[in-house]
Amino acid sequence: MTEKFIPLIDNRRHQDSLTIPAQLKLPSGKLADTLSRPLHDLRISVTDRCNFRCVYCMPKEIFDKNYQYLPHNALLSFEEITRIAKIFLSHGVKKIRLTGGEPLLRKNIEDLVAMLAELRTTDGLAPDLTLTTNGSLLEKKAKSLKNAGLNRVTVSLDSLNDTTFKQMNDVDFAVSEVLNGIDAAHAAGLGPIKINMVVKAGVNDHEITDMARYFKNSPHILRFIEYMDVGASNHWQVNEVITSEQIILRLQEAGMPLRLLPANYEGETAQRWQHHDNQGEIGFISSVSNAFCKDCSRARLSTEGKLYTCLFATEGHDLRDIIRSKENHSDLLISNVIASIWQSRNDRYSELRNLTEAKNQTTEKKIEMSYIGG
Ligand code: SAM
Ligand code: SF4
Ligand code: SF4
Repeated sequence: MTEKFIPLIDNRRHQDSLTIPAQLKLPSGKLADTLSRPLHDLRISVTDRCNFRCVYCMPKEIFDKNYQYLPHNALLSFEEITRIAKIFLSHGVKKIRLTGGEPLLRKNIEDLVAMLAELRTTDGLAPDLTLTTNGSLLEKKAKSLKNAGLNRVTVSLDSLNDTTFKQMNDVDFAVSEVLNGIDAAHAAGLGPIKINMVVKAGVNDHEITDMARYFKNSPHILRFIEYMDVGASNHWQVNEVITSEQIILRLQEAGMPLRLLPANYEGETAQRWQHHDNQGEIGFISSVSNAFCKDCSRARLSTEGKLYTCLFATEGHDLRDIIRSKENHSDLLISNVIASIWQSRNDRYSELRNLTEAKNQTTEKKIEMSYIGG
């Protein structure tokens, strides 16, 4: 029998019309895209606002006082986010990461954490609930986030040197306050804490060894992230990237040789390494030099409810339109829409970028990191 499709027409430019199979199917807990990649992770952006102006993410000249952020009624409510997250879990998602913008700026974020912690995966377990933050409000919020059901946090910290850090966050924020946030998160039981350092050539690459030395004997996992060509605001250039291989070499030259550890699970974003004397784990996220698209099992939900199947997408699928429709669509229908989006996914931007020698692959405007989260 040929399947009939009912198009839900959306008139925004380039927006694909969403298709719903005429015969709705119950979720099986297993979805595969066109490259046989399962759907395991959901990243939810809860705000497009941030109190930092990191030069590689929200440069001040673009994100200035005239920048148009989303109005409050455009944001998904906590109920809407939870409803969508529940459907994703029924498709096999096990891990949910809250991000932004700065997620701790979203008012009463603990309430959302508590609502998500109540959900169950297809194995009957609570989802693995994590959050990525710049750490600025963590000292204040770590305990309440833990009490609400958050499992772990990832904290972004690009330097231990105040001059460099302030140059990068561009709002005069001190390193010590982020470190206090990390300590509070550790004390609250939000570990193991991952520390994300985006390395930008000529800006903070001279701090690589200091960061490695500082976190070597700590319970935290330092992760070096290659600077990526996300969005358009940062005017990314390939010569601003310091590759993981270069970092490993620099650490070796500084007397900190590393050895590779086995992955925790298939599709893990970071490659895990360890200091030779077994003191401390270091992760490398090599999105530019060693793309991991073939294992990419992440879906991303924007603050305003658009579903993106790749960090480098130019267009999302508007789930908010469906859940706010006057037609009162059922969860089953939304579940089928999500299934059909995932099943037709063929994204592999980073792999293609490498094949085209880091040339910009699209003339369309890519979404910004602050809009979709990392
Ligand atoms: N505001 C939070 C924070 O900074 O942790 C969460 C959102 S932020 C967009 C998520 C992660 O993306 C951060 O670790 C940040 O350093 C990283 N990031 C932002 N822009 C990036 C870029 N162009 N290349 C690589 N990582 C980037
Ligand atoms: Fe804000 Fe995070 Fe982007 Fe920095 S990386 S500007 S903290 S959203
Ligand atoms: Fe996944 Fe897209 Fe990144 Fe490839 S480029 S790893 S498909 S988000």
